[in-house]
Amino acid sequence: MIKYKKLKEEAYQANMELFKQGLVVYTFGNVSAIDRAKGVFAIKPSGISYEKLKANDMVIVDLENNVVEGKLKPSSDTKTHSVLYRNFSDIGGIAHTHSVYATAWAQAVKPIPILGTTHADLLPQEVPCTKVMSDEQIQGDYEEATGNQIIEVFKNISCENVKMVLVACHGPFTWGDTAEEAVYNSVMLEELAKMAFLTLQINPEITPLKKALTQKHYNRKHGKDSYYGQK
Ligand SMILES: [Zn+2]
Repeated sequence: MIKYKKLKEEAYQANMELFKQGLVVYTFGNVSAIDRAKGVFAIKPSGISYEKLKANDMVIVDLENNVVEGKLKPSSDTKTHSVLYRNFSDIGGIAHTHSVYATAWAQAVKPIPILGTTHADLLPQEVPCTKVMSDEQIQGDYEEATGNQIIEVFKNISCENVKMVLVACHGPFTWGDTAEEAVYNSVMLEELAKMAFLTLQINPEITPLKKALTQKHYNRKHGKDSYYGQK
């Protein structure tokens, strides 16, 4: 019997979904899924292509980055994942991609403005972008520092309301209650990034979405007064 079978399967399926959605090429990107009760998460192994990936290749790591189970080396971004799991205590999964439009905004070091209701359906504000890292951070524990840059941004933002961020000069990280939701948020973020880019091409003077529309769309899908979908 494979230990951590369910957790590995969850992480594997989510990694493959990221690949199927066309958000990752070659070995780029990674998804993890956490088991809070056991205090471990399953993450994609480093440098293995999606075509060759198997559920049992997922590496089980604890929140101090020790490999608990698995023969392969975990993703090089593992420390960023563990910083997020330690600080965002309710999230169940994390995804990281270099999807083109979201990464373009990250490279431009620009938050993605909220310009339409598709965006407001997901989050009630712009998609934040971290600061560019200092040389000390880059030369030190780089992946840990990447996580800390994200945490810094979320000092004044709820990670419940905003489940996505752009890491300056690098690319997006998203999360959710499950790894599956984290992947969904990566797919949606790429859509928002593309739409915002095109909108600003058509009208560079456009201002952010009206507050009333933002609140209407966000609140009908989220929170206590939500009414979207089937009950
Ligand atoms: Zn990356």
